[in-house]
Amino acid sequence: MKVVNIASGSKGNCTLVKSSLATILIDEGLSVKQLEERLKLVDVNPNEVDAILLTHEHSDHLYGIKSFLKKYKNAKVYIPSFVENYYISSIISLPLNQIEWYSNSDFFIKDITVSSFILPHDSRFCVGYSLFINDVKITIATDLGFISNETLNNLAGSDILFLESNHDEELLRKNVKYSAQLKKRILSNHGHLSNTACGEALSSLVKTGVKQVVLSHLSEENNTPMLAYNTVKTILGRHNIVEGEHICVDVAFQHQIGTIFNF
Ligand SMILES: [Zn+2]
Ligand SMILES: [Zn+2]
Repeated sequence: MKVVNIASGSKGNCTLVKSSLATILIDEGLSVKQLEERLKLVDVNPNEVDAILLTHEHSDHLYGIKSFLKKYKNAKVYIPSFVENYYISSIISLPLNQIEWYSNSDFFIKDITVSSFILPHDSRFCVGYSLFINDVKITIATDLGFISNETLNNLAGSDILFLESNHDEELLRKNVKYSAQLKKRILSNHGHLSNTACGEALSSLVKTGVKQVVLSHLSEENNTPMLAYNTVKTILGRHNIVEGEHICVDVAFQHQIGTIFNF
């Protein structure tokens, strides 16, 4: 079993989860060429991809899906059925025979059980996913304005958690390149999760058994990997949680693949 982030951030998102039977991508926001190059680095043939789980319709999560499905006919894209009407009318060019609409939050792709949950974000729909392989739980939750208790419950006990740590609030507020409206959008309850909010959430998630987190969807404008890591580490420390001992904190990148987790 292999889990690796392929790309993370506003220029494209994709995460790979590979079990002994199934190969799943969560989102495909890269060009097909870029995805192919990065999958090669982890010895995955794109022909093996069974499924792409779509989190929401923003282009940094969707961009490459149409071309990927056209080239790799065995792959299916999974979309929650409650967005069917909207989706069909707005992005009708996806091949219908390669769309799987799922209506229950839990479904199966070969030996992987997939569970989805709603996230608060300014899109027509936004979901996070937990993938269960035997007794291992992998969760992806990015693009969320805040963390509710319900979301915390969905993230609880994850063996690997990809959690958004989008921005440093001060850098964002001071960024002269961003309009007041854009700042308001990002900081809102339907925007993106800050480093501080991520750190606070992790402080309570450690108690549920989360031992490995990958800080994800970092802003290239209002964050750096080091700043996200240090902020989260400091907040954990305030709760007497030691990074590297109680929980390991890793960071996902935009322009290169992340750490490869093998089980
Ligand atoms: Zn995004
Ligand atoms: Zn988004």
